[in-house]
Amino acid sequence: MKKVVLLIICFVLSSLCLQAQTTYLHCGNLIDGNSDDVLSETTIIIKNKNIQSIKDGYRTPSSGSNVVDLKTQTCLPGLIDMHVHLEGETSPDNYIKRFTLNEADIAFNAVSYAKTTLMSGFTTVRDVGGTGVNIALRDAINTGKVVGPRIFTAGKTLASTGGHADPTNGYKDALQGDPGPKEGVLNSPYEARKAVRQRYKNGANLIKITATGGVLSLAKSGTAPQFKEDELKAIVETANDYGFHVAVHAHGAEGMKRAIKAGIKTIEHGTYMDQEAMELMKKHNAYLVPTITAGKSVADSAKIPGYYPEVVQPKAKAIGPQIQDKFAEAYKNGVNIAFGTDAGVFAHGKNAIEFVYMTEAGMPAIEAIQTATKIPAQILNIDDKTGTVEEGKYADIIAVPNNPVDNIATLQNVSFVMKEGVIHKNN
Ligand SMILES: [Zn+2]
Repeated sequence: MKKVVLLIICFVLSSLCLQAQTTYLHCGNLIDGNSDDVLSETTIIIKNKNIQSIKDGYRTPSSGSNVVDLKTQTCLPGLIDMHVHLEGETSPDNYIKRFTLNEADIAFNAVSYAKTTLMSGFTTVRDVGGTGVNIALRDAINTGKVVGPRIFTAGKTLASTGGHADPTNGYKDALQGDPGPKEGVLNSPYEARKAVRQRYKNGANLIKITATGGVLSLAKSGTAPQFKEDELKAIVETANDYGFHVAVHAHGAEGMKRAIKAGIKTIEHGTYMDQEAMELMKKHNAYLVPTITAGKSVADSAKIPGYYPEVVQPKAKAIGPQIQDKFAEAYKNGVNIAFGTDAGVFAHGKNAIEFVYMTEAGMPAIEAIQTATKIPAQILNIDDKTGTVEEGKYADIIAVPNNPVDNIATLQNVSFVMKEGVIHKNN
């Protein structure tokens, strides 16, 4: 009888039923994402989706609650990658796939890449461009139909005609058509407004633009500026109307300076960032998202004959290897950094190798971790919900076998993944 009454109460007040779902994590070490210290022997108590409290020592669980033994592990906040493309993954036949894959194929692939990404410890990602399937993927994950990280997506990236994200680059004339704002191509402030508003209509969370040429597009220049100042101004102003920030792909310095002055939030890659651009970054409180892994990966693939089309190969060889050194220089100059990899340009799930490259380039491990936890949460405006292990925030928590401050490579071996209180991996 008692049980029946409880069930009825549960039915009426469903939160009561969930009260049974309390989990105690016994963490050997804890990096909370806020402090530079590593705490030892800590208990994180999770109730439903959220962190209820954090206590010293290994606390005895209350009756009916779960306990997860991570006493030999280091716990951290779920990681955030600010630059992924969940719809695809590198392969020599990628350019053909534009003609052979249907949206449903792209969607099924994306489901698989999303799961791989979550299992490697990334509980939140920013998807900076695809066909728009990434919007449906975000919604499917949010409603629990699909397992993956929390996604903030740009939908389709914006470019000018022939620019890095013009979807018909390299096509023969008869197939090119004349893509416009709806397809993410714009050539005036008027079209810029329309293109941004179309992304709003489609359900994007932010705007991504290609302010200079890029490596993997079928176009000659990887560095030339591709927007005029008035177009950039219209993009940023319109984006701000909808609460969107603007992420900017840029290799060449001129295109990046125009974008920073227009008020964008993040520069992706930043390969040829000069001193003036670095000063502008600091002045305008913009962040560099380095994507060192992508640079190294395209430079390696360019050595394999036939991996990339002829027009892409020299760009990959020239631009790719520069990125790590530029990151080192930018960091030394005090430019704000947010972690991002360009996963998709290399295999999904390998994102954490970026930490190794960042520390190789001179950034201390604890700071590198903060670029993937607290800092991106602030940029995405979700720092009240995630990015650090703190009372009241989502229980987005991962664990790794070693202390990453001593051994950063351990972040490539994530053993435990919890997102919003749900355990997705526990090796
Ligand atoms: Zn990218």
